[in-house]
Amino acid sequence: MDTDTLRRYLEFYQDLGIKDLYRSAPVAAAKPVEEAEIAPPVRVRAAVEPPPEIELPPMHPTGESLFQIMDDIGDCKRCRLHEQRNKIVFGVGNENSPLVFVGEGPGADEDAQGIPFVGRAGQLLTQMIENTAKREGMDLLRKDIYICNVVKCRPPENRTPEPDEMAICGEFLFRQLMAIKPKAICALGGTAAKALTGHKEGVMKMRGKWFKWRDVPVMVTYHPSYLLRPYNQNAKREAWEDLKKVLHFVYD
Ligand code: URA
Repeated sequence: MDTDTLRRYLEFYQDLGIKDLYRSAPVAAAKPVEEAEIAPPVRVRAAVEPPPEIELPPMHPTGESLFQIMDDIGDCKRCRLHEQRNKIVFGVGNENSPLVFVGEGPGADEDAQGIPFVGRAGQLLTQMIENTAKREGMDLLRKDIYICNVVKCRPPENRTPEPDEMAICGEFLFRQLMAIKPKAICALGGTAAKALTGHKEGVMKMRGKWFKWRDVPVMVTYHPSYLLRPYNQNAKREAWEDLKKVLHFVYD
């Protein structure tokens, strides 16, 4: 198998949520084993490290502005993601938007610019929002809605954020949502869906359906970077359908 095909397979498994793959060792010819050859199992005791001291983000009363939340984030070092980030990617768009899109976390382009969804996936998201709105007769541009992520710092190698990173940064996401008070939220991909709804089914089962974050309806759809992969053309069609649903719910 060539490396490109292998990469596509690996990306496909990653999209399905499979994180660990094992390479089987070549099967050696069976040989009878003497009893003495069988080593007794060795118990390895993992060194127990004390959990790191983490300053958790405080829950603030409702009524704070996005600016106050950004100010509170400051030069955040509350989790390990700060170590390799260039810029904190807080969020962008209309503070009073009735619709908020939530992604997973910044990639390389976002980390460099400090703005969410500006890379290839972001360009596709912009096209999807603006073209769907236009086709459905709505006067809506990307700048009219609000876009942010579950985690505000780029995970190294674009890995999925760890549960503790999501829990810490998720508090800021929730505060952003409390400040904006949208009519609906669109979760882009499994990580955002899980952070907002607590469901763990995977995006393929959740997409196209309504869930809730507190009292706010949440529509789950595919992450745009998943839609960029050449074998996912059906998913693209489904994502347009999901987007139509959410736009009509919010703007009709
Ligand atoms: N992917 C995300 O989830 N968020 C971004 O901001 C960019 C890519």
